[in-house]
Amino acid sequence: MPTDNPPVITRFAPSPTGFLHIGGARTALFNWLFARANDGKMLLRIEDTDRERSTDEAVDAILDGLSWLGLDWDGEPVSQFSRAARHREVAEKMVADGKAYYCFATPEELTEMREKARAEGRPPRYDGRWRDRDPSEAPAGARGVIRLKAPVEGETVVDDKVQGEVRFPNKDLDDLVLLRSDGSPTYMLAVVVDDHDMGATHIIRGDDHLTNAARQTLIYQALGWQVPIMAHIPLIHGPDGAKLSKRHGALGAEAYRALGYLPEALRNYLVRLGWAHGDDEIISTEEMIEWFGFDGMNKAAARFDFAKLEALNGHYIRHADDAYLADSIARILPEIDVDTPLGNNLEPAERDVLVAAMPGLKERAKTLVELIDSAAYLFIKRPLPFEEKARRILDEGGSDVLRKLTPALAALEQWSAESTEQAVRDFAEANDLKLGKVAQPLRAALTGRTISPGVFDVLAVLGKEECIARLQDVI
Ligand code: GLU
Repeated sequence: MPTDNPPVITRFAPSPTGFLHIGGARTALFNWLFARANDGKMLLRIEDTDRERSTDEAVDAILDGLSWLGLDWDGEPVSQFSRAARHREVAEKMVADGKAYYCFATPEELTEMREKARAEGRPPRYDGRWRDRDPSEAPAGARGVIRLKAPVEGETVVDDKVQGEVRFPNKDLDDLVLLRSDGSPTYMLAVVVDDHDMGATHIIRGDDHLTNAARQTLIYQALGWQVPIMAHIPLIHGPDGAKLSKRHGALGAEAYRALGYLPEALRNYLVRLGWAHGDDEIISTEEMIEWFGFDGMNKAAARFDFAKLEALNGHYIRHADDAYLADSIARILPEIDVDTPLGNNLEPAERDVLVAAMPGLKERAKTLVELIDSAAYLFIKRPLPFEEKARRILDEGGSDVLRKLTPALAALEQWSAESTEQAVRDFAEANDLKLGKVAQPLRAALTGRTISPGVFDVLAVLGKEECIARLQDVI
């Protein structure tokens, strides 16, 4: 459909001071979805102007987290720090155009202003003392900062797609610093110049940036640039309503990977934190792209709920392709701390076994880590270690049952879930035993546990030789 609107360009602009945390991942997802939903682009800007706190490891962790989540970006990531010369050029042009001015207030003067304001019960504001002074009055040798000549009257309106019209009295937005005396840009200036130069049409970010949006609007207006469309999404809170903390799940994306979550489950979980499509809970990525927009976004803070994420993850595991699950396990084995006979590498032969056993395994697991744990019986070396309950079942008559059953199984020529099931049923009937009285010790002997996939699947997957050997071990 032909349209006059410019193509949608969103951006994700993380500060590389730590991993990609869950709030950042949600912001990235929303920007990605909005771009994909509108045939647009999502750009990536690394806000690395804080040289002391920004690290290359954090940049890598963020890119890695985004890639794992399946959120790709268009073009090369932009480094904000590398654009400092451009930021400075814009600030100087604003001075030349009378939209900004040099301020030479000393740190002592600024402290005094703050203290005076505090004493009078006002918010601390710069009093505009250099606003209308002639630069020739500048103290000799001083470099000064560049401040925005912001309007003192009226109000600034942020027409937000989520928050609605939010009004800020201009008297509360003072003449903010654009360029520091060392020539480096402030965050506020850098964001505006970068968003403009990158052609961002839509800014979707956490609502902790709402006041910044008002300040940035003033900078856009001073520059005569069009203000992008803004959407400030509610922050994520913990289940108790308090600000999200580590205790609540404010972990990095790589931590979710290592906990055994699938990226599609996390996407589904995250999209529901601040956006809804009716009452839908299970939403595929294709559906998200089809349905995503400002309409479904809500204003109320979203609550993070680990149990819900787990349940969703279990759903995605149950419906996932077996080979995909095996490969997902292979991917996380080196980075997780789980005691498994697989070690931290999945050999090709092990992968084959895992894929074959997957239909039985995936029914129960809520995470890949649980899946790995429940697959232990496949790879464990004889003689098996037994869980206490399993040991008891065998000691309290189970081994005797198995002693009688084993010849019947050993006599089978064709070994499958069906043939072994038939043999076990026949045996139970002939000996007047309930099926469970045979199946329970069988499970214990073959897996060392009392919970496992269906016991006939276990028999089939392990193969005749291994099963008979495990049975011999206990009888
Ligand atoms: N770098 C900012 C942050 O990580 C984002 C700023 C923005 O999206 O405008 O919170």
